[in-house]
Amino acid sequence: ERPIVIAGAGHAGGAAAAFLRQYGWKGGIVLVGEEPILPYQRPPLSKAWLKGEATAESLALRPARFYEQQKIEARLGQRVVAIHRAEAEVELASGERLPYHRLILALGARARALPVPGADLAGVLALRSAADADALKAALTPGAHLAVIGGGYIGLEVAASARALGCTVTVVERESRVLARVAGEALSAYLAEHHRAQGVEILLGAEVEALEGRAGRVAALRLKDGRTLACDTALIGIGAVPEEALARAAGLACANGILVDLAARTEDPAIYAIGDCTHRPLPLSGRSMRLESVPNALEQAKQAAADICGRPPPVPEVPWFWSDQYALRLQMAGIAFAPAQSVRRPAAEGEGFAVFHLAADDTVLAVEAVNAPAEFMAGRLLVAKQRQVPAAVLADPARSLKELAA
Ligand code: FAD
Repeated sequence: ERPIVIAGAGHAGGAAAAFLRQYGWKGGIVLVGEEPILPYQRPPLSKAWLKGEATAESLALRPARFYEQQKIEARLGQRVVAIHRAEAEVELASGERLPYHRLILALGARARALPVPGADLAGVLALRSAADADALKAALTPGAHLAVIGGGYIGLEVAASARALGCTVTVVERESRVLARVAGEALSAYLAEHHRAQGVEILLGAEVEALEGRAGRVAALRLKDGRTLACDTALIGIGAVPEEALARAAGLACANGILVDLAARTEDPAIYAIGDCTHRPLPLSGRSMRLESVPNALEQAKQAAADICGRPPPVPEVPWFWSDQYALRLQMAGIAFAPAQSVRRPAAEGEGFAVFHLAADDTVLAVEAVNAPAEFMAGRLLVAKQRQVPAAVLADPARSLKELAA
């Protein structure tokens, strides 16, 4: 009997192995991962781990004994180099071939490279893996000057952690606001102000032309407007590129991610794809896109495991995401492609707030919450139920969100 082979032992791959057992798969499960460690959580890498507040045990998705007890064979430090669909086998870098009954591609994404001179200097770092995080952590000594290239979630989280470690931090963002791709304008403005108040210098509309070195190590950034900015370490945080080359080479359709349906199926009935490497449908909006989040990795792991085990597909979820910066807990749900209106509401408790994004017919498309967990929970329900709520009602603290979402 051929096993289920999972290529990629990250968050999605590790979760899929567990869901397969939970849903009753009795056959073999082989989890092949390039990294030398069992599946772990990446979110703490830019937060608690950098600040020395997490341990290897707390990063691990599950303890090592789980894989033994559940008879999940982990093949770590091994790279899948080809998929032979006709034979239903994957080929490892060693030349060994593993036959599969079903193959789940859970290959993740890699940090996007910055195509400028000097990007290969020592001290120019990216953050994707635990090994990357260790290299970054070693560079973040008190007084060190960190330049963060890219004001996305990872860049801003590292900026916050680096401030906590006593570093001088400059964030250089090409767009006119931080989080330009993933957040509304109000949240972008609030976060930029908060970072500045915490002592981070934020340069907007600033594009890096080159990294300059001294004795082989980065010493400065040169911007397109001619300015130079001294630094000891540069973190490139300009997004991630899906690992789709294996699927592409095997003839599977890809378009900024491996194309899958709501059961995580590719066009080959024996091959599934889950997590950051996929381009997936979004049931509420009728669109499709690539999502990079733990909730998405878990949802797709469930979809694939359910389909393989002959169970009905799980109820589709509203995409959501969180981020921690300083004492701020950010929580976002839904995707506001082109909101007609955005409205702010203070949190019922504490200093936080939520921003709701509405379509022209008042359908709640998305919510972004800052230290406002109750507003986030209710907002997520409003999005899931596609409720129509006028902006004035959402903005009115006297109106109960819970009742509106009930
Ligand atoms: P990954 O976890 O990247 O796993 C893919 C694995 O496949 C990797 O181990 C890789 O080495 C392996 N692999 C790739 N190619 C091969 C091959 N050919 N052969 C064998 N193995 C291979 N999400 C949130 O929701 N909230 C957060 O706050 C948050 N913070 C983050 C902070 C950081 C620093 C990072 C990097 C990510 C963060 N994310 C966050 C995103 C989240 O971690 C990812 O969405 C999630 O890890 C995706 O899981 P995955 O399994 O698809 O990919």
